Amino acid sequence: MIKYQSTRGSVKKLTAAGAIIAGIAEDKGLYVPEEIPSLPEKFSSMRGMKYKEVAHSIIKAFFSDYTDEEMKACVSGAYDGKFEADDVVPVVKAGDAYFLELYHGRTAAFKDMALSILPYLLTTAVKKENEEAKICILTATSGDTGKAALEGFADVPGTEIVVFFPNKGVSEVQERQMVSQEGANTHVFAINGNFDDAQTGVKKIFNDDAFAEKLKETGCRLSSANSINIGRLVPQVAYYVYGYMKLIEQGVIEDGDLINVAVPTGNFGNILAAYYAKQMGVPIDKLICASNKNKVLTDFINTGRYDVRREFYMTNSPSMDILISSNLERLLYHLSGGDGMKIKELMEALDTKKSYEIDETIRAGLTDFYGGFCNVEETNEAIGRMFSENGYLIDTHTAVAYKVYEDYKKETGDTKPTLIASTASAYKFAESVCEAIGLPKQENGFAAVAALKEKTGVRVPSGLKDLEEKEIRHKDVIDINEMPEAVYNSVK
Ligand SMILES: *Cc1c(COP(=O)(O)O)cnc(C)c1O
Repeated sequence: MIKYQSTRGSVKKLTAAGAIIAGIAEDKGLYVPEEIPSLPEKFSSMRGMKYKEVAHSIIKAFFSDYTDEEMKACVSGAYDGKFEADDVVPVVKAGDAYFLELYHGRTAAFKDMALSILPYLLTTAVKKENEEAKICILTATSGDTGKAALEGFADVPGTEIVVFFPNKGVSEVQERQMVSQEGANTHVFAINGNFDDAQTGVKKIFNDDAFAEKLKETGCRLSSANSINIGRLVPQVAYYVYGYMKLIEQGVIEDGDLINVAVPTGNFGNILAAYYAKQMGVPIDKLICASNKNKVLTDFINTGRYDVRREFYMTNSPSMDILISSNLERLLYHLSGGDGMKIKELMEALDTKKSYEIDETIRAGLTDFYGGFCNVEETNEAIGRMFSENGYLIDTHTAVAYKVYEDYKKETGDTKPTLIASTASAYKFAESVCEAIGLPKQENGFAAVAALKEKTGVRVPSGLKDLEEKEIRHKDVIDINEMPEAVYNSVK
């Protein structure tokens, strides 16, 4: 059975179920598998499998303490009837790339891929571990995680969910999706700060022992729906395996051929899942890590120094407006050969000095990654070009990945087939996308959705229809220092 240990090395190992309930480790580290399993099946025997079957096989390989029956129930609950696309994740060729369309779930962003299964994994874990407390999910969001987590956990018995998003830091559609959320156990707060402030605030609450004690009186225990939770991360590995299988089925590659993967990156969860897929044995060559103007990861990959002492920009790809990419800690742990002391040192330096530099051992492992970035004008240009040349509509985040992929190709001459992680429906960022394809400026986000539909004929995801008419149920705007109190009052 694969156990889970903290990246900072100093707490005892847990089962997958235990790690999913805990969310974050007591030493402030993140849980990682003590080994990364090999692909449970060869691609020759996977050919023709449904998404659900691939997901079952991959997630079960990591979470080996779940029985086959349990995993079957989790996967069915997550993927049956909840995605508006043929077999969950279409792989679509447009221009010179293959788009892995991860956004056909309820909230129209790729976060649904993992957040539709996390509530099932978690409630199963609670039973397996005989946990008696009510689970209170705390989530910081740059826009998409919040809604996907709310949708996943709304009215799930034995849970409460609290979401914090940056006030004025998300798109109009994203904001309305969250503040109109129904469900007696859902709690949503806008905070006066950016995503990093929200994420830091949530991490602080997790690490506050006195607060945990106080919360115990309410019968609650905290957990996380952010990608710091290993239960969020592992389900994302499945779609890279599935994407590779689809490229074989479509005759693009033969079993064993190398591909590249390009990922629009914020908190480093999605691209870390691709790295795990590579470690399992999926023939992936380069992992192309694409950032927007907040290019802290590009600089890190190119120099080995992580430095957050820089200006923070609000861009048209807000889900990537992040300076502290939590999941990088997991990669550093693996690349250091599991040196928890070293990782603790680096993360403490990040905390106190706002920067750190990696050693040669870790640096050597980074050669699997290519880092690039793209500004707002280039993002718009990529969307415009893709639409006018291929009639294919991409959102602002996916466009960042596509542009960086183009740069990579120019720079290296590498023409291997490349999967681009397509992370959101263009309708979620309708105002920006309208501008990018040359439509006149619209009055608001909802008018932009209508104009985009009119111009492109692309179907509007069900979850985004009639959003404007939905009742606003969550109106609180709070300061960062009020976050703990907001949590307590929500769950008491
Ligand atoms: C969350 C998000 C990202 C960034 O993904 P990470 O796993 O945080 O790197 C990119 N695009 C969209 C649309 C997102 O919602």
